[in-house]
This record gives sequence, C-alpha cells and structure tokens, in this order.
Amino acid sequence: MITVRHLKKVFRDQSKELTVLSDVNCEIRKGEVISIIGPSGTGKSTFLRCLNRLEEATAGQIEIDGVDILDRRTDVSLLRRKMGMVFQNFNLFEHLTILDNVTLCPITLLGQSRADAEKRGMELLEMVGLHDKAGSLPCELSGGQKQRAAIARCLAMNPEIILFDEPTSALDPTMVSEVLAVIRRLAAQGMTMAIVSHEMQFVRDVSTRVFFMYGGEIYEEGTPQQIFDNPQKPVTKAFVNRIRSLDFRLESRHYDLYGMFGRIETFCSKYGLGNDITGKVQHVIEEMLSEILPFSGPVSLNLEYSEKTYGLSLQFTQENASVPILAGIDADSVSLMLVRGMSKSVEETEPGLIRVEF
Ligand code: ADP
Ligand code: MG
Repeated sequence: MITVRHLKKVFRDQSKELTVLSDVNCEIRKGEVISIIGPSGTGKSTFLRCLNRLEEATAGQIEIDGVDILDRRTDVSLLRRKMGMVFQNFNLFEHLTILDNVTLCPITLLGQSRADAEKRGMELLEMVGLHDKAGSLPCELSGGQKQRAAIARCLAMNPEIILFDEPTSALDPTMVSEVLAVIRRLAAQGMTMAIVSHEMQFVRDVSTRVFFMYGGEIYEEGTPQQIFDNPQKPVTKAFVNRIRSLDFRLESRHYDLYGMFGRIETFCSKYGLGNDITGKVQHVIEEMLSEILPFSGPVSLNLEYSEKTYGLSLQFTQENASVPILAGIDADSVSLMLVRGMSKSVEETEPGLIRVEF
C-alpha cells in the first residue's frame, strides 16, 4: 500500500541545516498496524508528516497505491483524504460542536448531504463512546474524550490508513486507556495504521510490526516479539530495556577514585539501587583497578542499569590487553575472590573485556 524509498528530509533555516531523515525505507501493507518508536527528536513525527505531505520531503520516493505522492502533479487533497491523521493535541475546531467537527469535512470535501453526514457521524460517535456529547463543544470534554472525537472525525472521511502521532502523550494517565481502547478496536477491525507511541505495552499488543527509528533511519524493524524480546542492534536494546549507563575512562593509574565513587552513588540513588549494591559496585571497582587490571593502556568502565530487567552490570575494558587477564591471576588471589563474592558473575568475554553482573 505504501512504499518509501530513500526518504530524506533536511530542515534548512538561514545558515543551519539539520538532516532529520537521512535514508528511510519501508513498506506498509494493507491491514498492517505499524508502530514507530524511538527516542524523541529522531524524526518520527517528521516521517509521518512527510507521508501525508504536511512536510515536503527533500529527496526519495513515497508511493501510495502505486501513485508517486512526491510528484508535483499529485493531488494533495485526494492524498489527505486517503490518509487520516490524529495529532497529539487533538486539533479540534474549538468553536464547532463535536458532531459538527465530525461532519464538516465529509460535507465540504466529500459532498455528503448534511443528513447523511450526521447519520454517519452519530454512528461514529457511538462507536467511540461519545454519542451523548454530540452537541457539546470541545472545551466541555476531557482530553480523552477530545481525542476520541478526533478519531471519529478522522474516520468520517473513510481513510484507507490512519497516522497517529503520539495520540495519548498529551493526556492525563487516567485517560490514556480509553483512547488506546478505541485504537485497539480499529486494529481488530483491520484498519491500516501507523502509530507513533511511547506506550510500550500497547505497541507490543497491537502492532503487526514495529519500526525503531534512530539516526535518521529505521534502525531496526521486526515483530513486537523480535523488537522487545530479542532486539539485535545495540541502540534498540538500550531503548527497549531502558538502559541507563554511566561511563568513565581512566588514562592511567592516577585516576580520581573518590570523584568516580561520588558519581556512582548519585547514579545508583537516582535509580533506587540502595547502599548495599552501591557499596558492592564500588568495592569491585577498587579491587579490579588496584589489583587485577594491568593498566597496559587506558581503562574504560561502563556501568549499566536496566529499568526493565533491573539488571546491573559493570564492564571493564583494558586497552592493549594482548592476553586474557583473569586467566593470569592466581586462583587464590584474594582480590579476585572478593570480586566474585560480591557479584553474580565475572566473565572475560574477550581479552581485556571483563563483565561483572550484580
Ligand atoms: P520526534 O517526533 O521523533 O520526536 P521530530 O520529527 O519532531 O522528532 O523532530 C526531529 C528533529 O527535527 C528535531 O530535532 C526537531 O527539532 C527538528 N524539526 C522538526 N520540525 C522542524 C521544523 N519545522 N524546522 C526545523 N527543525 C524541525
Ligand atoms: Mg514527535
């Protein structure tokens, strides 16, 4: 249904250039529910906006049902009719009733009679649970109700695909689920949708495929199981496991141990890790640096905590290590025994790369 090839978008303002999309390629088939996830600022909104030409792409091709939509001759209003869009901030017409919001475009753009448009409008409002709000103004509705009204308005145009740009991120947490329930229902009915969302459980349940956007492209894509349970690429892993990390690089043995310990304490307390574990991390670092690592070159430390699995790990990288380090340490070394005793596992995955799990 939609084919995107080498889509590029550069924002230019005066002297500055910002490449937001560098090379986006994908296909969306009829009936698919595509979720687009990724850190903020990676171009998710820009991508959706290029699809319906709210933003002009800088280069590349977008074909919808075989029509090249970047061609100047393509009728943009026809395109927008095929593609509904639901925004974070609802974008309802504030001075019109909910029913008039829903019927305005079908009457003016599709040429429906008022009676037909209102009949269909009431059916759609019924479907999103707002039948009794038809005569209300948007300001009389809660955020969740407004967003459901915006979805009804979008459906009134009989779109072939609906683009959702963070439809729940402007809502109070108590109202998120009523909006997600409506979107789930559309998915169950086979509506083709592309949804930018940070609601990971929802994304997992509702999507046929997930696109993880990063660095101006679709960095990784797959089924929800692939992306959430078995991501292949490092940035996807860090994102889905909500990995927080802290890095140090020590050029020589003359490092600032107390400065480092202070930052580790701040990091651990920020993620609720407690004094016991913080002390163990510090103790392991002290033993490793003073007794185990040879400092044959700079040493890097990387402390990682997953807010999803609650796993905490500490990785030491000894540069210029030519032979395995742990294998060369005496079996009865007190330091190594301490390190092992304070952690769940200690492993040298390759010479100079030692990973300690807590
Ligand atoms: P996301 O939706 O993933 O958070 P956006 O697509 O909104 O990301 O934005 C990506 C980047 O493009 C951001 O750095 C943003 O500041 C920039 N950007 C978005 N719209 C414009 C614009 N109209 N002009 C200049 N920069 C923009
Ligand atoms: Mg956005």
